[in-house]
Amino acid sequence: MNQKSLADWAMETRAVHAGRTAGDRESRYIPTVPPIHPSVTYSYGRMEDLDEAFAAGGYVYTRHGNPTVAALEEAVAALEDGEAAVAFASGMAAIHAALLAAGARAGAAVVAARDLYGATYLLLDRLLRSQGVTVRFVDGTDRAEVEAACAEVRPVALLVETVSNPLLKVADLPALAEIAHRHGAALLVDNTFATPYLVRPLALGADVVIHSATKYLGGHGDILAGVVVTSAARREGLMEVLKTTGANLGPLEAWLLLRGLRTLVLRVERQCASALALARWLETHPRIRRVFYPGLPAHPQHELAARLFGGRGFGGIVTFELRDAGREEVFRFMDRLRLCIPATSLGDVQTLVLYPAHSSHRGLSPEERAALGITDGMVRISVGIEAVEDIQADLERALSPHRK
Ligand code: PLP
Repeated sequence: MNQKSLADWAMETRAVHAGRTAGDRESRYIPTVPPIHPSVTYSYGRMEDLDEAFAAGGYVYTRHGNPTVAALEEAVAALEDGEAAVAFASGMAAIHAALLAAGARAGAAVVAARDLYGATYLLLDRLLRSQGVTVRFVDGTDRAEVEAACAEVRPVALLVETVSNPLLKVADLPALAEIAHRHGAALLVDNTFATPYLVRPLALGADVVIHSATKYLGGHGDILAGVVVTSAARREGLMEVLKTTGANLGPLEAWLLLRGLRTLVLRVERQCASALALARWLETHPRIRRVFYPGLPAHPQHELAARLFGGRGFGGIVTFELRDAGREEVFRFMDRLRLCIPATSLGDVQTLVLYPAHSSHRGLSPEERAALGITDGMVRISVGIEAVEDIQADLERALSPHRK
């Protein structure tokens, strides 16, 4: 099955088959599961063949390319409707490389949504700024503000998250693509929270899609990985960055990630359904002040999310604020959980509960967090694939301080 025929299949089918035959096209048999190629280097029968492999981008050294990693890249590209993908050692390495490849260097400018994942915000605000990049943060849901910033600084890139972390704001990707392109910028979209199951940003005008594959793509909390999906032409720039900075994904991780991808659709379907049920329940709970979830009609971008995600769901993350609570009350609530795990990640099969103020956004000052709307009573749940009744019962018990 090649990429061309894959494009004819539904997302469920692509997730199961994509990348299966990559890397081993020469052999007479095709394993149903791609093999793991741990070799760092490759030899050829004749020096001319090795020379040709160097010239044609064949396998010569694993930092330049590896068959197992290539199988994963082919699979993620197929899921995101992209021409090519490049895998990295982490989501942050992928975001950094995508920004560098888009031209973020001294003298250039980047416009980015203000409420990004904490480390992405710090990468822009501290590291890239210190290297001479002009960085302008905007409210990614305010088109006029995005437009004005792009007109003023003429950025090389506009960076947004499809669904932001942890406030779950939804980006109007077609509108942002139009603004970015009119000002000569590439639209870079971190699609980690939404996954290609909910939306494929390249089809809506984005130029580059980035994943922390550590989350939903892997899905099992056992691999740190990042992937950038884009056009064949932009792949060249990413490969230059990868070859010279070396933040490569290892073949063992690539193989595990490929295995995780096979069940992406089943997992995310369940996670979206359970998250919606929990968000509706939490909204009615007396101890909850406010629930952030794009599937609730009260969410400011509910209609946009319904349109962009085509009725497939609204994601597996629910954020809420405990009523009259600060760090102390949130910590006690999290300590009382027995099933849901207080841990710093998302997208896993287990339900994970996180306190943004001390984990994902720890590196920000209290003033920076307050400006983003991240309060001390805020909790983020990454809904797993357990029975939703069990998750709800666990949350209910933890929300009731007098219950055993
Ligand atoms: N992007 C988003 C939206 C994230 O939530 C994270 C991590 O939580 C990252 C990027 C960074 O990914 P990684 O931890 O794989 O480097």
